[in-house]
Amino acid sequence: MARTEWLSEGGEKLAFTPPEERDNFHCDVAIVGSGYGGAVAAARLAGREEEGGRLSRVWVLERGHEFVPGAFPERFADLIGQARLTWGEPPRVSGRPEGLFDLRLGDDVSALVGNGLGGGSLINAGVLARPLREVFREPWPRDMTLDALEPHFRSAERMLGGGKLPHSPAKLRALEKLATRIDGRQADRRADLAVTFADGATPAGVQQLACIGCGDCFTGCNHGAKNTLPTNYLALARRRGARLFTGITVLSVGGNDTDGWEIDYRFTDRQIARRFGEAPPKLRAKRVILAAGAYGSTGILLRSQRRGLKRISASQLGKRFSTNGDMIAAAYAMPETIHASAREETAPSHDHRGQSGQDDPAGEATELLVGLHAADGLLLRRAFQRAHRRGCVDPLRPQPRSDGVGQRLHAIS
Ligand SMILES: Cc1cc2nc3c(=O)[nH]c(=O)nc-3n(C[C@H](O)[C@H](O)[C@H](O)COP(=O)(O)OP(=O)(O)OC[C@H]3O[C@@H](n4cnc5c(N)ncnc54)[C@H](O)[C@@H]3O)c2cc1C
Ligand code: SF4
Repeated sequence: MARTEWLSEGGEKLAFTPPEERDNFHCDVAIVGSGYGGAVAAARLAGREEEGGRLSRVWVLERGHEFVPGAFPERFADLIGQARLTWGEPPRVSGRPEGLFDLRLGDDVSALVGNGLGGGSLINAGVLARPLREVFREPWPRDMTLDALEPHFRSAERMLGGGKLPHSPAKLRALEKLATRIDGRQADRRADLAVTFADGATPAGVQQLACIGCGDCFTGCNHGAKNTLPTNYLALARRRGARLFTGITVLSVGGNDTDGWEIDYRFTDRQIARRFGEAPPKLRAKRVILAAGAYGSTGILLRSQRRGLKRISASQLGKRFSTNGDMIAAAYAMPETIHASAREETAPSHDHRGQSGQDDPAGEATELLVGLHAADGLLLRRAFQRAHRRGCVDPLRPQPRSDGVGQRLHAIS
């Protein structure tokens, strides 16, 4: 299977799909969201048998679109057209609802999450790291220990296909030097990356090309080298018979395990939504799995609760959120050029590895340093304001092309 093939079907066809006559359900399992949670659930449940030996009908409902290599934004100018902003209370959406980047702007915390078939895997850095033992000192469900999870980590790593970067870009060399200075250890500490470094097929049989080191992973891999979920778990789910629908924004769910569940949804694309006028008929599923990410699933539960869904622990729902990182570091006045970011004007087919495999001409030196540990929002904002006054950061103000606006954007991301 090549990754230029579509895995998904347009969600609008659901408006014309009645539940099956035999049991009055559209599907046996509806999975909301196609990030890691949804994709793994779909791959594991698809192909199983229901009572009576019938193949389980597994449907994945994803809010965003499907992107194949070549369809991701390439230039800074393309990014604005791929941004979806959610802000205010009650939450309002502006920008392009089906855009690749879902920016959640809050009073104290803002976050960026992926929006598309494959969720965060489309835009994340693809670093595969196991949690440290200390993480499990927090109260987790009793059976979730590091040892109990070991075989599952191995199976996920096999599927996601991690490998270490085979060449040494200047930025990595600089970080390795810095790490050695901090603790004196010379050991190789390169993380595994969910990236293909030699042409070949993923465990789900999707053909991938070797990474060219362009550094564009964060805006989507146009080269077919990043091991995103559509290349592994979602491709497997599809091969096992799951149906993946895109452009469906789930609003709420109602019902129970005995009588089944009803899913209230809208079409994400404004034009398609307008064409249908009123709300499309609800979907009926025997079971529902919410895997729409920390924001998405919580939003669905809050709306479901307001519409009468019982059995939700109301006192904790939507509380105790935290960000997944509390450190930002960048370097200022470096003694050598570290090529901190990708060069926006370079076509994705250009191989950045250089003949020696050591050189990394992707991007130019950036002169920004913000080094903060466990930064609170105000401190971070002040630091960026200071850097901005010094002319180091300004991703949004139009600049002459040679100034490398895209590079600055990468530099602060
Ligand atoms: C820039 C960036 C870099 C990152 N780098 C790393 C890294 O290097 N290593 C690492 O381990 N983690 C990284 N992460 C984090 C990682 O990607 C997330 O933890 C992971 O994607 C979460 O998986 P999930 O299934 O919970 O949700 P997501 O992957 O966010 O998937 C949720 C899906 O649900 C969809 N959805 C949301 N609401 C609805 C709705 N109402 N109806 C239908 N569908 C909906 C969304 O469109 C999305 O596709 C990074 C994240 C970002 C943003
Ligand atoms: S080819 Fe570029 S975008 Fe794709 S994985 Fe390699 S560095 Fe990332």
